[in-house]
Amino acid sequence: VNFGDQLVSPDEKTRRVGHVFSSVARRYDLMNDLMSGGLHRRWKDRFVARVKPRAGEHILDMAGGTGDVAFRMAERGAHVTVADINSDMLAVGMERAEQRGLKGLAWKQENAEGLTFEDSSFDAYTIAFGIRNVTDIPAALKEAHRVLRRGGRFFCLEFSTSDWPGFADIYDRYSSKLIPRIGKVVTRDEESYRYLVESIRRFPKSEKFRRMIADSGFERTSAEPILGGLVCIHSGWRI
Ligand code: SAM
Repeated sequence: VNFGDQLVSPDEKTRRVGHVFSSVARRYDLMNDLMSGGLHRRWKDRFVARVKPRAGEHILDMAGGTGDVAFRMAERGAHVTVADINSDMLAVGMERAEQRGLKGLAWKQENAEGLTFEDSSFDAYTIAFGIRNVTDIPAALKEAHRVLRRGGRFFCLEFSTSDWPGFADIYDRYSSKLIPRIGKVVTRDEESYRYLVESIRRFPKSEKFRRMIADSGFERTSAEPILGGLVCIHSGWRI
């Protein structure tokens, strides 16, 4: 499998992705603001507006990291379980929740490829900027389907490729040159940001990814592009 532009074994990829997020966890939120000029906040707002969390619903925020998406959903009264493979990211998330006085969140270390939750446990499953880091994506999508109840909704926010003429090129140059440099200054870890940029470049285009979601058993799948598809909101239903 690919880890950035290198070929490694699946276990090695999972190990290296773990290293990336442990290394950046403390500076992760600051880096998101710097790299996206604050835009990631708007993308997450828009994503949660699509999810439409209702009070009392049970939502699994997979690869939830430091809690950005989970907090937005909990503020609307949903019971959110934040699950992530990386305990360092979860630790930062728990601290942030405490600072904000947010209650009603559950935190759990989980690998998206093999969840410990029972079948039909959740009303909705969300994964934001997480799926491209997962080693076995089809396995994670099958697990998402399994833990959703019938009528449950699946939502994924992820980078893709913009169709806007010129914009994709500008972004490509920005991301390959500037992001690792910002990463170097802020986290002293240029390599991790090289991986993150490369993983965005290698992630399947939105139509291909939509088909992967459909192949995992989801119905009425759709892809909503943002900035011409630079970022995309995927959704599907377990019927
Ligand atoms: N959802 C958060 C957000 O939007 O700010 C965090 C996104 S962060 C770019 C990606 C997260 O995916 C990291 O916290 C990482 O630990 C997690 N991750 C990577 N592989 C995973 C896996 N196999 N299972 C669960 N989480 C995983």
